[in-house]
Amino acid sequence: MKAIRLLPGKERSLLRRHPWVFAGSIDKGKADPGETVRVEDVAGRFLAWGAYSGESLIRVRVWSFIEAERIDRAFFERRVQRALALRARLPIASTGLRLVHGEADGLPGLVVDRYADTLSVQFGAAGTERWKEVLADLLLQASGVSRLYERSDASVRALEGLAPRTGWLRKPEADPGTTEVTITEHGWQLTLDVAQGHKTGYYLDQRDNRGHFGRWVRQLGCRRVLNAYCYTGGFTVAALAGGAEHVTSVDSSAPALQRVQAHLALNGFDPAAGACVDADVNAFLRLSLDAGHRFDAIVLDPPKFAPTTAHAERAARAYKDINRLALMLLAPGGLLFTFSCSGGIGAELFHKIVAGAAIDAGVDGAIVQRLEAAPDHPTTMLFPEGEYLKGLAILKAA
Ligand code: SAH
Repeated sequence: MKAIRLLPGKERSLLRRHPWVFAGSIDKGKADPGETVRVEDVAGRFLAWGAYSGESLIRVRVWSFIEAERIDRAFFERRVQRALALRARLPIASTGLRLVHGEADGLPGLVVDRYADTLSVQFGAAGTERWKEVLADLLLQASGVSRLYERSDASVRALEGLAPRTGWLRKPEADPGTTEVTITEHGWQLTLDVAQGHKTGYYLDQRDNRGHFGRWVRQLGCRRVLNAYCYTGGFTVAALAGGAEHVTSVDSSAPALQRVQAHLALNGFDPAAGACVDADVNAFLRLSLDAGHRFDAIVLDPPKFAPTTAHAERAARAYKDINRLALMLLAPGGLLFTFSCSGGIGAELFHKIVAGAAIDAGVDGAIVQRLEAAPDHPTTMLFPEGEYLKGLAILKAA
């Protein structure tokens, strides 16, 4: 077993059970990509077993802090079963759910989403790449699903020196391999394509927030709704299910917008109740303001503006701008559901940004709910980097 020796003092984060070893913490030691290594302190004392990744700044991702534990098939079987056992205890109103959420499930670099009878999986780090075949078998066995599509095309793979790869990793011989899947979420029908969709196909992390939004729309009797950065229209369907009369859905992805339209029909809504606009949201908000339009509820769910804290300042300006415009576009008493999925922007900073936007807009309001990722995307207390999605539900003063 190869050993990775840390520099003096660099064992501290591991002793607090943080699962990453950065390149700058290492004194000596090397291994093949994804190979299991013994991480030890300056005196040679055991700290952790982990997967080595020579190309990544995150040089080792920890599998286990227990010296007696062997990193073998049985280890991964225990981890997969633990992740699925947690999901079995969660209230999940959908046939689409995240089964494995990387570090939070003790499987750094692995993301597994289940869409009805299909698993869509990202092997995002050298360790999971090395154990791919074993993991694929274990995932099928533990979930009882027979189809597994690989979506290892996230940009993080490049940081690990891994080429992108997508395609079926497992499926029955006779299965024609259609990548189109339908899930039921809060009783709604939603379709996605595991090969073409964003991430693994859909934004499962927003599931509970789509449910909350539908309930707020009903509670407040919102009639005109704007779903900005709508992707395939999950929040659009939520608003219509909540009794909205008309929903405008805006995104810059044409294939996503086609699905919004299809989702209206699939869920029995009048096609005239929805308008789909292929546009840049910022530009759309400005045009709508100039045209004097007003909405009773707005969802703002932009892509990650700040992947890391280094981008936070520029991202903060972009968030502030769209939130200012949205607050101005809201009718008095209207509802804003505003989000940031940037790891580089914490909940407190996001709150400040939105507050700043409200001041600039000359708008007052009450935060009526704080929003976060659904619980099948857990964060552990030991890994703050895992926290990314945060949101606020704001009622504009009447
Ligand atoms: N709310 C969605 C997820 C949104 S993800 C859901 O519940 O499923 C962010 C979306 O923003 C993506 O669909 C992406 O195509 C879109 N997008 C990114 N930049 C954009 C821009 N400048 N203007 C409009 N849409 C944009």
